[in-house]
Amino acid sequence: MTVDPLVERMRPFGTTIFSEMSALALRTGAINLGQGFPDTDGPPEMLAAATQALASGANQYPPLPGIPALRHAIADHEQRFWSLTRDPDTEVVVTAGATEAVAAAILALCEPGDEVVCFEPYYDSYAASITLAGAVRRPVTLRPAVGGRYEFDEAELRAAFGPRTRLVLLNTPHNPTGKVFTGEELALIAGLCGEYDTYAVTDEVYEHLVFDGVHIPLATLPGMRERTLRISSAGKTFSCTGWKVGWATGPARLVSAVQRVKQFLTFVNASPLQPAVAVALGLPDAYFAGFNAGLRANRDRLTAGLTAAGFEVFPSHGTYFVTADIRPLGGTDGIEFCRELPGRVGVVAVPTQVFYDHQDAGRHLIRFAFCKRPEVIDQAADRLKAY
Ligand code: PMP
Ligand code: GLN
Repeated sequence: MTVDPLVERMRPFGTTIFSEMSALALRTGAINLGQGFPDTDGPPEMLAAATQALASGANQYPPLPGIPALRHAIADHEQRFWSLTRDPDTEVVVTAGATEAVAAAILALCEPGDEVVCFEPYYDSYAASITLAGAVRRPVTLRPAVGGRYEFDEAELRAAFGPRTRLVLLNTPHNPTGKVFTGEELALIAGLCGEYDTYAVTDEVYEHLVFDGVHIPLATLPGMRERTLRISSAGKTFSCTGWKVGWATGPARLVSAVQRVKQFLTFVNASPLQPAVAVALGLPDAYFAGFNAGLRANRDRLTAGLTAAGFEVFPSHGTYFVTADIRPLGGTDGIEFCRELPGRVGVVAVPTQVFYDHQDAGRHLIRFAFCKRPEVIDQAADRLKAY
């Protein structure tokens, strides 16, 4: 009994880079531009609604699919912003963050040996969930092209599809690259889903954070509504990453499959927070526009600061994040660079190498989060200039 009790397939995963880097920030007192969480609170109406719910008895198990008010608010939000019509009773399920929705979707849809097409760098929970399901990931690499925009090779995407492909797992706007998939790219993905008769699971947690281009849910493309599960979360849009209120929407049979797994993962969560997120989803357009404008200004601020510090910075078209090449500063390995950075200049970033199967593609790339107050971004940029 002296061997590692962890099942073999999970051993390669170690501790997530977000925990490692946030712990390093705490230990060193460095500015944390690593883990993506805002340093300001979300809309006051939402916070007040949560306080009120907590004080008025919303403290027991909510219904498995989520409280009706929240399911209706999710359906209304999808209609308002993306013209997707959902039945709140059968086509919406509330989850413990987008993370649980992704895990439940993969566990619900994949048999052992099934293949999941995804894009690398990928959000780390994707790899873990695919592995937990006994499925196999087929990553397609995003690489900075001319002008710094991350692109994939069409032939590589086509080659990733095959007879065992069960689903494509797509994150747009994309963490960590800040890529926003274009209509043309989405049409190509949709065409392959049709050709190979696969499902699509889309992670759209940054749906309101597109600065250049437009956000297009894959489910809105011809033929895709019936095969797509769309996932989002309150964490990013309403600056409440610790609340872990997420959801999945889609055709009833896909939502029901997620629900049947989800009931044995967490069953339910966040009872007093669900009515508050319902309030937030119903805020006027001005909230969403103001939120976007604030983050866009932060994006510009940090991009300028990193460029002035000597990094090659790749344009971020959306999300909380911007990526940079460390080689102009003499770095070669992002993990090493990020472990040393707090000690050298008092800033924490995240190496994106850990989000690739083909690690060489990301060895020299790191990610900075700009969901921070402008003065914090400026201070971090000043420190980085001293590198
Ligand atoms: N997907 C992506 C792409 C993310 O960046 C994150 C992290 N915030 C999540 C999912 C997880 O979302 P949640 O906190 O709602 O579980
Ligand atoms: N999504 C956040 C990020 O990408 C952090 C999530 C986490 O810590 N698991 O930085």
